[in-house]
Amino acid sequence: MMQLFMPLNFLGFVYREIRGALANIERMFDILGKQPQVLDQVGAIEKSPTIGAIKFTDVSFQYDQRIILNSVNFEVPAGKKIAVVGDSGAGKSTIIKLLFRFYDVDHGAITIDGIDVRDFSQQALRRAIAIVPQDTVLFNNSIYENIRYGRPEATEEEVFAAAKLAHLSDFIESLPDKGNTKVGERGLKLSGGEKQRVAIARAVLKGAPILVFDEATSSLDSRSEQAILNALRDAAKGLTSLVVAHRLSTIIDADQIVVLSKGKIVEHGTHSSLLAQQGLYARLWHIQNEKRLSE
Ligand code: ATP
Repeated sequence: MMQLFMPLNFLGFVYREIRGALANIERMFDILGKQPQVLDQVGAIEKSPTIGAIKFTDVSFQYDQRIILNSVNFEVPAGKKIAVVGDSGAGKSTIIKLLFRFYDVDHGAITIDGIDVRDFSQQALRRAIAIVPQDTVLFNNSIYENIRYGRPEATEEEVFAAAKLAHLSDFIESLPDKGNTKVGERGLKLSGGEKQRVAIARAVLKGAPILVFDEATSSLDSRSEQAILNALRDAAKGLTSLVVAHRLSTIIDADQIVVLSKGKIVEHGTHSSLLAQQGLYARLWHIQNEKRLSE
């Protein structure tokens, strides 16, 4: 009996560990076996930043001696929306990884509310940032349970409110078992757009001052895309948001757009000022528009 009990007990432990880790969705990096390469400093700040003003000053970073970001400067005042665009491989996702301190910068500094991200404990830093990743990890649990991973202690009302803000209410109402419907292994019963809205609801529930949205590269039909955009717009209200965009239509309303090319910021401004500059952004915009019209 004891022999049977021990492995079951161990499995229970593993399950609780995984569940606990996912309470903080970003710790899934750990679960995926990727070791964070940073350590907390002695006496690291345990209190999370609450305002959410972000500043990159002269940030450079390389992987394996290949320069990925080169002297990057930008600022996102609290409550504003910044978008990062550029070709594949330009370094957009690396900006998110550095903000989240998955790696340390090689040169320069990233601050939140004026404090270097290296001065916070990793827990304190990661509590302040909610990420909607490109590929959301969903478990074969109910939709509500999947949203709840954003903050396990949230009340039912808070989970409903997050689902509503992420424009999931109508979809949930259409399901046989409403929000208690299971999503299938890895969320297979949901479309790509629905999955991303579950991720947005999770992020909202976390209650962090900074929202990072890493737009999926695979294109969705225009209705799903619009639903995500509406969800994102409502979810980001009052938060500082950083959006990595592949489709420029996603970010027309951004307060500032940063255009990256080969790790350098080559242009920045609003959608209309960038179009007027007739540079790389304007070229990307026209290419995407022509593609849209021909579809
Ligand atoms: P995409 O639009 O295709 O997602 P991106 O602009 O987000 O691209 P990043 O993911 O930031 O680009 O990658 C920037 C560069 O860094 C790429 O050339 C990539 O190959 C390289 N890179 C990313 N991660 C690593 C890594 N762990 N080790 C080595 N090189 C990496």
